[in-house]
Amino acid sequence: MSESSMQIKFGSHTLNAVGHSEKPTFKNSVLKGVKAWLGLWAVAIVCVPVPVLHLVITPLALLFGPIIGLLVFYRSRRLIAHLEVSGECPECKSPFTAEFRDTLPPLYGMCPSCKAGYEVVLPQKK
Ligand SMILES: [Zn+2]
Repeated sequence: MSESSMQIKFGSHTLNAVGHSEKPTFKNSVLKGVKAWLGLWAVAIVCVPVPVLHLVITPLALLFGPIIGLLVFYRSRRLIAHLEVSGECPECKSPFTAEFRDTLPPLYGMCPSCKAGYEVVLPQKK
């Protein structure tokens, strides 16, 4: 988990916050891709004894298994596995923490006490 400074935008207010973020490991991304691939191939195998379906679903699942596996792998590489930010709401001055898991930016949230919406702006990669 790495600590970095980020901004939280509450309407016209912008506040600086410190957040802890974690990217998925290469191994986890590979595992997710392989699970998607094998899942589709399992569907193909299950459909082999079923009349008519084995003519359509089996070849499609065999063909798209590796493709979907690769898509799942690349999507997983872009995900934010875990992000935790904390700060003080500029509207009601109450402290809050927000947690995001397995998500892609943009990251939106709401102050738990006054329901003011905000966006977490991640630092730009160089
Ligand atoms: Zn608030």
